[in-house]
Amino acid sequence: MATFRQMALSEAVAHTPGRFYKEDRPVSAYFGQNVFDLDKMQRYLSRAAYEAVLAAIYARKKIDRSVANEIATAMKTWAIENGATHYTHLFQPLTGATAEKHEAFVSVKDGRPFERFSGDALVQQEPDASSFPNGGLRNTFEARGYSAWDPTSPVFLLDGTLCIPSVFVSYTGEALDMKVPLLRSLQALDEAATDVAKLFDGHVRSVSANIGLEQEYFLTDESLFNARPDLKLCDRTVIGHNSAKDQQLSDHYFGAIPSRVASFMKDFETEAYKLGIQLATRHNEVAPNQFECAPVFCEATRAIDQNMLLMIVMNKVAEKHHLKVIFHEKPFDGINGSGKHCNWSLQTDTGVNLLSPGKTPTKNLQFLTFYAAVAKAVHDHNYLLMSSVCSLSNSWRLGGHEAPPAVMSIFSGSTLSKVFESILHPGNETEDGAPVDPISMVSSIPEIMPDNTDRNRTSPFAFTGNRFEFRALGASMNAAGAVFVLNSIVAESLKAFRAEVHKRESSGEERRSAILAVIRDFLSSAKPVMFEGNGYSKEWAEESARRGLRSVTDVTEAFKASLEPSAIAMFDAMHVLSKAEVEARYEVANELFVKKLQIEARVIGDICLNHVIPAAVSYQNILVKSIQGTKDTFGDEYKTLCQADMETFRKISGFVNALSKDVEALVEARKKANRIENMAERARLYGTEVRACMDRVRYSADHLEMLVDDELWPMPKYRELLFF
Ligand code: ADP
Ligand code: MG
Repeated sequence: MATFRQMALSEAVAHTPGRFYKEDRPVSAYFGQNVFDLDKMQRYLSRAAYEAVLAAIYARKKIDRSVANEIATAMKTWAIENGATHYTHLFQPLTGATAEKHEAFVSVKDGRPFERFSGDALVQQEPDASSFPNGGLRNTFEARGYSAWDPTSPVFLLDGTLCIPSVFVSYTGEALDMKVPLLRSLQALDEAATDVAKLFDGHVRSVSANIGLEQEYFLTDESLFNARPDLKLCDRTVIGHNSAKDQQLSDHYFGAIPSRVASFMKDFETEAYKLGIQLATRHNEVAPNQFECAPVFCEATRAIDQNMLLMIVMNKVAEKHHLKVIFHEKPFDGINGSGKHCNWSLQTDTGVNLLSPGKTPTKNLQFLTFYAAVAKAVHDHNYLLMSSVCSLSNSWRLGGHEAPPAVMSIFSGSTLSKVFESILHPGNETEDGAPVDPISMVSSIPEIMPDNTDRNRTSPFAFTGNRFEFRALGASMNAAGAVFVLNSIVAESLKAFRAEVHKRESSGEERRSAILAVIRDFLSSAKPVMFEGNGYSKEWAEESARRGLRSVTDVTEAFKASLEPSAIAMFDAMHVLSKAEVEARYEVANELFVKKLQIEARVIGDICLNHVIPAAVSYQNILVKSIQGTKDTFGDEYKTLCQADMETFRKISGFVNALSKDVEALVEARKKANRIENMAERARLYGTEVRACMDRVRYSADHLEMLVDDELWPMPKYRELLFF
């Protein structure tokens, strides 16, 4: 009888490249066609209603009920004209995924059907959301959670459903999602950054964050994916021997895109374009069957919403191609994992990128101001910032040698570092003996900016010319979780910067000199987090410890970063999260960690008992029959003739025995952890003891994969999953 693996392999062979969303029109003809954007609003809304929406987007004004009704009617008209039957609030609960509950437009009154969608339904919904994680923020008797329309993000059509980007809050207004703290952090950042930008240009009215998210992912054949319980249930392989060839030759990175993948990419790009997502790049990544795409950067909320939507679209389109997209950070052991690099910058309403060095000394002073403020923020909250990317799935990747290191640091490039030195030590001399003048260094920044070759891929937070690239985010994460932390700490730092300058000015110091003095102070206190060398090296591990930077070696330990007084005070002062909200999130982080690892631990146990051991024993039976047959035919000579078979038999017995013992130990470790009431302590035990047991189980299982007859092995192997 054929194994599932063999059936899956023949199915996979039959899956050929195809195109499903054929579009002959140029992209510009359909770009944004499924989004109810400002253009369409202008067409479908009265002038007053359109202006109310603009005020909500740009001035955070509330939309009143009667206007909401008009907007809802317009949305409904547009949606139904385009084939929609349902609507849904789309929100981003603390699970890290998105949530949707579809409601039909159709209603029947007195036997007459009609389509209905009121302002109330647009503005607020009460999904039966009692089973979303809330960390104790909702008591059971008040288990209500509300999703509310976020007018800053446009509504759109997906598969015949009108999707309304929403926030998710408790009855008492506490944040139950990823988006509320993001929006609050953007407001804090806007206020703080605008105040500082006004030091240089009185015309600045607001500052927003721009984000460009590079999305890495793996692709596998759907049949092969489905033949592996671990991929199906955990999105990662919990066992699996390395493929003899994987990424050693670096022949995949930027290689020719396989045609099956290329047609998938074209299809999901077509869908993404229709949703107004401006995808710009695509390429093969380092690991086999690993790829990346990136849109052009845009305003932070929109960029993050679009990234979540992009992941949904990629999953949907993959189905048609009999492919599976894996966003998990470390689906395969031994090869690179997937990240979501977050390019982040600040922009004024006057169109200036505050992290781009300018052409004049004033512009450069402004650039240095914002740079120094970011650097100090990253220094002061380095552990918190690193912890913001911590999750179970990202933990398999963090600290490994292909991914961001476990310690936060900033890479500035050699030339910018020289400018900082000249500011910190104005008396110093250059190589040719002349004294360095900080002002002239500051003015010459544009000429000495690093070019693209001056890049450090081992830094978790690198300056890349006009933005920072925060590289530690995991591929599957909702980027909001890391971005709201970054925004908040920078807002805090900018507030402090403004206050310092103000103090100096009040005591009569001239503005430019006051600003330069505060830049010097900020750069000086940020110094320990500035690092230009190899972030993966042993030297840096030692050096960073000497500098007082803490490394993330244990994810559940890192979760505690948000509970530290400096973090609680910062989130509170920036009005991003209250203490209760921070504590609730901490609870949820631990809960999710435990539940996900619980599933992985059960899956690895099941696979070993139901797949690995039976396959190993079947092979032993074959070996025994062969040895017996040899003995019957050749008598005592079998001892030499069957030496290898007998050795294999013994090795298999050794691993099978170890495996069943280790699975038992794993079950015991789980039971022990499950008895612990305190969720944080339970998570700690899962992260240490349960995980250690899983490693031991995997060791034997992977050795058995190498010993057992390929024909009998029940699950697709790495070499089959990783190459089209
Ligand atoms: P690389 O892989 O070389 O880092 P990519 O082209 O893959 O570069 O991705 C770079 C990302 O950074 C893109 O999403 C791009 O739009 C974004 N980006 C460029 N400039 C800025 C900026 N000023 N602020 C934020 N993001 C930016
Ligand atoms: Mg890239």
